[in-house]
Amino acid sequence: MTVAVVGGGWAGIACALELAEAGRAVTLYEAAKQLGGRARGLDWNGIRIDNGQHLMIGAYAETLRLLRHLGTDPLLERRRLDLRVPGFRLALPKLPAPLHLASGLLLARGLGLADKLAAARFMQALKASRFRLSEDTTAAEWLARYRQPPALIDKLWAPICIAALNTPVEAASAQVFCNVLRDSLAGSRADSDLVMNRADLGRLVGDAVLARLGPRVRLGEKITRITRCATGLHLAGPEQESEQVVLAVHPGRLPALLGGLPEMAGIADAVAGYAWQPILTLWLRFAAPPVFPFPMLGLGDGHAPWAFERNDLAPGLVAIVMSADGPHLRQPAAQLRDAYLALLAHALGTLPELLDWKTITEKRATWSCTPNLARPDNATPVPGLYLAGDYTAGDYPATLEGAARSGVKCARLILRNP
Ligand SMILES: Cc1cc2nc3c(=O)[nH]c(=O)nc-3n(C[C@H](O)[C@H](O)[C@H](O)COP(=O)(O)OP(=O)(O)OC[C@H]3O[C@@H](n4cnc5c(N)ncnc54)[C@H](O)[C@@H]3O)c2cc1C
Repeated sequence: MTVAVVGGGWAGIACALELAEAGRAVTLYEAAKQLGGRARGLDWNGIRIDNGQHLMIGAYAETLRLLRHLGTDPLLERRRLDLRVPGFRLALPKLPAPLHLASGLLLARGLGLADKLAAARFMQALKASRFRLSEDTTAAEWLARYRQPPALIDKLWAPICIAALNTPVEAASAQVFCNVLRDSLAGSRADSDLVMNRADLGRLVGDAVLARLGPRVRLGEKITRITRCATGLHLAGPEQESEQVVLAVHPGRLPALLGGLPEMAGIADAVAGYAWQPILTLWLRFAAPPVFPFPMLGLGDGHAPWAFERNDLAPGLVAIVMSADGPHLRQPAAQLRDAYLALLAHALGTLPELLDWKTITEKRATWSCTPNLARPDNATPVPGLYLAGDYTAGDYPATLEGAARSGVKCARLILRNP
């Protein structure tokens, strides 16, 4: 049984590895010259950096299993959750759940007692409802329904929502936000840990996959169309036939790829109609490492950027990441750099000399995670054709974990298929 996995992002990678491990004849086709898709490494004046700063959490079970399988998990740094924003701090102590959350909230800095009680009551109510909403709505409307005070929303819920869903509370799906809270703050103590890559994403995943799968990875091979053929499915581009195909591409690519399969038209058109959210990362290289009290610092309330210490890539490297759409994208890059430098100096004190800087804007970083978004299943109406990717049906927003889970799910569907 031959399987072609089209798309070497984290979904395609997770799928191909799972199939290879089970002994299936799998080929991974990636249009770009490197693996990783929206989470990849790149060169910047001789330094390896990430296309965008990524953050994982302890609840990312499939992502962490993937990295353990690749043997690159020692390149991760795991810290207990500690959200530090000017005037606010929520640190979860090393206690078993739910004590870690209760004492973390009680000791949180920058929240009044009424805010802390409102947060604790909210988490209790979610637990009582088994984290299921009777009907999806926006996170803002949902938080208002639970009478969450504006200061609590600004300092805690809005930053978590925008960081996890890359969609502001006013537009975000309350159900998906609820899923995120279930698996992070309301999970085990370890689930809420912050997990940071301490090597570029290419080293973390792409290089290790190439070493593992060797010639079964075909870089620079773009599939242009998928059609039926006598043996199963035909891939235009490399002109290969395969009995099973896992399509693990960005959903915007589906209509062109699936034009020859009329049963797929409805799904392809639906996902091609998704709205998208950008993510901007500003990379700063200082002459010496600025001193961070914690490797990840919020630079303001609500929709504000976060700074990450990235000395692992080169001494003095800092990434500042700004989620979602906003006026920052309309600002000239040098003006934005100066604004973020001022915020960073406010958080850290006088900064060392700035040697170099670069902004990377991923315009279609994640799909807008809005209420009731229709997300397709991994199995499709076409026998032998599967869809993988962070956008397929699942609990998670557009994340590495959503991608990895979808890839593993496709692989298991194939392995179960006689
Ligand atoms: C800047 C940025 C920051 C982010 N931050 C976080 C974060 O902190 N935490 C988190 O969990 N997630 C984060 N994400 C989201 C995460 O990166 C994505 O959810 C995940 O990488 C999506 O993986 P995927 O495999 O589903 O899709 P993709 O990564 O889009 O992979 C699709 C692959 O298919 C290839 N392809 C497309 N067309 C073809 C074709 N015709 N033939 C062959 N190959 C093709 C593409 O080149 C690509 O490699 C971030 C994303 C960005 C962009």
